[in-house]
Amino acid sequence: AKSQGKAGYAVFDQTMYLQTLHLVDTETALRQAVKKREFRLYYQPLVHLHPPHTLEGFEVLLRWHQPEKGLIPASEFIPIAEETRQINSIGDWVLRNACEQLKTWQMEGKVTTDLYLSVNLSGQQFRDPSLLDVLDTILEETQLDPRCLKLEITESSLIHNIQAATEIMELIRSRGIELSLDDFGTGFSSLRYLQQFPISTIKVDRSFVHRLNNSDRNLRITSAIINLAKALGFRTIAEGVETHEQLTELQTLACDASQGYLFSKPLPAAAAEKYLAIANPH
Ligand code: C2E
Ligand code: CA
Ligand code: CA
Ligand code: CA
Repeated sequence: AKSQGKAGYAVFDQTMYLQTLHLVDTETALRQAVKKREFRLYYQPLVHLHPPHTLEGFEVLLRWHQPEKGLIPASEFIPIAEETRQINSIGDWVLRNACEQLKTWQMEGKVTTDLYLSVNLSGQQFRDPSLLDVLDTILEETQLDPRCLKLEITESSLIHNIQAATEIMELIRSRGIELSLDDFGTGFSSLRYLQQFPISTIKVDRSFVHRLNNSDRNLRITSAIINLAKALGFRTIAEGVETHEQLTELQTLACDASQGYLFSKPLPAAAAEKYLAIANPH
């Protein structure tokens, strides 16, 4: 951490120095990761709860395969990619590759056109004026039906300018791409704006699901969130479902779909194909 010296200037301690070194190293390595083909897309099943256990789509999660360090989860490098303003080019890569993968699966007959991919969009990507051009180009080049693509955005990407954000969301919707509000319940959650956003799905944050069986109070909070979402006409997907008890509670609460280690961890493409073969036997 940073501490104020007597003269008022910042004194950097060893930890800070090492953190800075790590950040610079990571920034440089990240800049080359696309060229070096070090990124991989992982796919985590999104599972219907009614009827139970049918696969409706996958959330696309980015992984970085560094030759020396192995597989790095998104939580460890996405914040650095955002801080160093690289998330837009990385995000374009994710969108393009996700659309290509799904199109390939469709052409190979491995999926029906009901199955969708849900791609995370960072706030910076969302606010980038070229986003719509990027989306149009990728959809045109891959010939993917926009209804097979969903985008996940967090509340924090929307609060900078609610009016502008709503307009961008409308334009995305007008392409036939549906929007989900990610990590719901952790952000500003202004009910006034929630209704105005052209989103179709709310993803109930893992922190609520995680605490589901701990107390009556947590159960009531999660129940209220799901009922609120439903009252406003949104579908609900619960994140981070790890136990059968959580699943049962969510079914009781009439949550529409869920995702979590109980069903599957995020899978590399080949393993996702195997999952598909089991989930959609022809
Ligand atoms: P998120 O969008 O909330 O994604 C869900 C995270 O929860 C993923 O972590 C996933 O591996 C993890 N997860 C799923 N099920 C469970 C479970 O049952 N238990 C637990 N403990 N965790 C579970 P991951 O892949 O490390 O991603 C972290 C965050 O990084 C994501 O959170 C998302 O905000 C961001 N991210 C991932 N891929 C991308 C991307 O392509 N673009 C952007 N902009 N952000 C991404
Ligand atoms: Ca997400
Ligand atoms: Ca989430
Ligand atoms: Ca999250």
